[in-house]
Amino acid sequence: MTGHHSNHSSSRRRFLTASTTLLTTPFVSRRVHGDEKKLAIHGGRKSVTGSYSKRLRWGAAELEQLTVMLKQNSLFYWKGPRTELFKERFRKHHPATSVHTCSSGTAAVHIAVAAAGTQPGDEIITAPITDIGTVTGILFQQAVPVFADLEPHTYNLNVEDVKKKITPKTRAIIAVHLAGNPCDMAALKLLADEHDLVLIEDAAQAWGAWYDGIPVGTIGHFGCFSMMNSKHISTGDGGVVCSVDQTFGPLMQKYGDKGSDRTTRESAEVLASNYRMSEPQAAVGAAQLSRLEKIVVTRNRLGRLLTAGIADVPGLTPMLEREHDRCTYWFYYFRLDLTRFKCDRNQFAKALVAEGVGASAGYIRTPVYEYPMFQKHSFFNGSWPLRDMGLTTMDYRRVSCPESVEILKTGIRFRITEDMDETYVHQIAAAIRKVATHYAV
Ligand SMILES: *Cc1c(COP(=O)(O)O)cnc(C)c1O
Repeated sequence: MTGHHSNHSSSRRRFLTASTTLLTTPFVSRRVHGDEKKLAIHGGRKSVTGSYSKRLRWGAAELEQLTVMLKQNSLFYWKGPRTELFKERFRKHHPATSVHTCSSGTAAVHIAVAAAGTQPGDEIITAPITDIGTVTGILFQQAVPVFADLEPHTYNLNVEDVKKKITPKTRAIIAVHLAGNPCDMAALKLLADEHDLVLIEDAAQAWGAWYDGIPVGTIGHFGCFSMMNSKHISTGDGGVVCSVDQTFGPLMQKYGDKGSDRTTRESAEVLASNYRMSEPQAAVGAAQLSRLEKIVVTRNRLGRLLTAGIADVPGLTPMLEREHDRCTYWFYYFRLDLTRFKCDRNQFAKALVAEGVGASAGYIRTPVYEYPMFQKHSFFNGSWPLRDMGLTTMDYRRVSCPESVEILKTGIRFRITEDMDETYVHQIAAAIRKVATHYAV
């Protein structure tokens, strides 16, 4: 799978020697010679000399599902055979009692927020480092996103800060399992139960992840997943909302389908959008689910390997995966203690790129509450009726989540994918070590 594409035979030999050394003594820092210490950004040899083949993520399994689907006389989701198969397979990974397919992760969260009984003016606590899709549904339901700060090394909700943000108006908590790393669900569930709050899991980046051995999305009242193209599995676009709650679960369908319950066929009682997923997407999704376990097992193994490979590098803190969890590494992220380096974070990232690591500085540019629409409270074409009418005093210009700001300022992110192997990941670790050593104060 991993092939070395240089046609230069001496550099090939060197690569093979280097990778053998790395394989046999993975985490012992090698004695490096002068030219190997020289950063690639300064004309030295690249640390990442291997390559990996980016394979197509779909093929025969998807074709088979689509072919069977074309023999159906309806491509509609309700009682659709592909949708039913998709849900059955979904439950094998995330065993919820109710599963509803929808058009996106954003739709999934919106459905959960609405089905949770959210009223205008209610507050929903969530993370400021996430995809905007986490908060879109909150705003559309005329509720107020409240941002709590994050833990420094899991980059997930800090439960103590969540506790501080609870008011009599709080309806729900949306726990975002960032990059596939599970939030501290035991603590969040305890807190939610204590205050009678709905707990929603945004697992868009956390397909196949386990908290303490339990699949994410089945711990809170709702679990929300995305199949947007870059997620672990893809239907181009798509989403799933699931529930283990007997009251909330059955409500999801109508909130995802124009407010009508297709079982009772009553007229719409609530306002809800059309967030349906069609059979062609469910067909591809069912096939994609057959690939999921292998994808997440590989990513988890490689992510842990990388952490072990850089854990002892001074000035650097790897991503924290709790011992009994399974993080599925939608991306890998580590943080720098900038007092320990002569360079800034962007320079560090640039040097890594030169070494052949597909690294970028940070993740989203700023915490979500710093986005212009929050700073200007201009969500609905320039206004925010909720605030204009005095139903909330929220002022996003005064929100402060200092740890989240620091996470974004001091972090470096890159992808770990199921196409990579140990040798490649060892080279990434070697690149990080080389750059850190060079810039160490
Ligand atoms: C991708 C993502 C979403 C939104 O999913 P879409 O399918 O793009 O709407 C929501 N939350 C998180 C954490 C995501 O990563």
